[in-house]
Amino acid sequence: MRRETFRDFDATELFCPKCRRAVPVRKKLLLILTSGEKYDYTCVFCGTSVGDKMVTMKDQTRLIIT
Ligand SMILES: [Zn+2]
Repeated sequence: MRRETFRDFDATELFCPKCRRAVPVRKKLLLILTSGEKYDYTCVFCGTSVGDKMVTMKDQTRLIIT
């Protein structure tokens, strides 16, 4: 996985299943865990969670889009 992908993920839009289109997202710190931080991305229009991202301390980024 390339880092550019994750940077793009922060800046670009994500698909919202409710709006049925790509929407701007709001990034929110959801949880701080011992292993890292979990960010939640929500649609700016309807507030639906469109994805989340786990940032770990060991320089690993895992992206899970639900
Ligand atoms: Zn939406």
